Amino acid sequence: MKELLLNLGRTIKSIVVLTGAGVSAESGIPTFRASDGLWENHSIEDVATPEGFERNPSLVHEFYNQRRETLLALKTSPNQAHSALARFQNIFENRHHGDFTLITQNIDDLHERAGSPDVIHMHGELLQSRCSQSGLKFNQLKPLNVDSICGCCRTLGNLRPHIVWFGELPLEIPRIERALTTCDLFVAIGTSGQVYPAAGFYEQAKTCGAHTLELNLIQTKSNFDTQLLGNASDLVPSFFSELASSLELEAF
Ligand code: NAD
Repeated sequence: MKELLLNLGRTIKSIVVLTGAGVSAESGIPTFRASDGLWENHSIEDVATPEGFERNPSLVHEFYNQRRETLLALKTSPNQAHSALARFQNIFENRHHGDFTLITQNIDDLHERAGSPDVIHMHGELLQSRCSQSGLKFNQLKPLNVDSICGCCRTLGNLRPHIVWFGELPLEIPRIERALTTCDLFVAIGTSGQVYPAAGFYEQAKTCGAHTLELNLIQTKSNFDTQLLGNASDLVPSFFSELASSLELEAF
């Protein structure tokens, strides 16, 4: 890691971090690929596609109601990886005047709870619903069901989880692309690299001259410049603390 940090040097002005389900695994939220492509024992087609929602909205509501309940349970809290990212962003932006863009594929709110401002949730948010007609979003802490009445059109059945399902367009892509083309360092944390377009972000950043780094529990098939293996709660604090020292940002 020392050599990497020496090579990166003090020239780093812009960093993009992409997180996946692995960053929240140690907070007790199961990853997606943990059990052969099933998400908590459900097929993706049933619970994470617009067709699945059309076929059986009650099942889909129940699935996200359970995920929401787990997320809101007292025992689910951000871990050291979420906290280190929030701390680093704060000093990198305030003392180094750098640009730090945090993109997550996660639908949980653990980055926000750790103190990260302005998180890009490219796959939506569990604690929001939206009107399928107008697109208007609502905070959603309570369970949703087919009898929920939409707050904007007052119609039954128009509210859906604010989740980007397979076959739908991820959110904030223009902003993400701008950040990818101008960053000096791209870091992917706890993502299997199997869901596009996020899986291709590191290649876009690399083509535009960024150093690409992957932090993951296991080796993935992606071709990052550097890969470090281990738990996110160990790797993320140690990497960003060393990076802060090499940028002469004290008290990380
Ligand atoms: P994924 O489940 O496909 O892959 C998880 C990755 O995390 C794997 O590569 C695994 O090796 C790694 N990992 C597991 N534990 C780790 C740890 N402790 N430290 C470091 N790495 C660890 O996840 P993905 O690539 O994010 O894609 C899954 C999709 O499913 C996303 O689009 C997301 O919307 C959704 N999802 C979200 C959540 C959440 O919000 N927390 C949870 C499950 C699934």
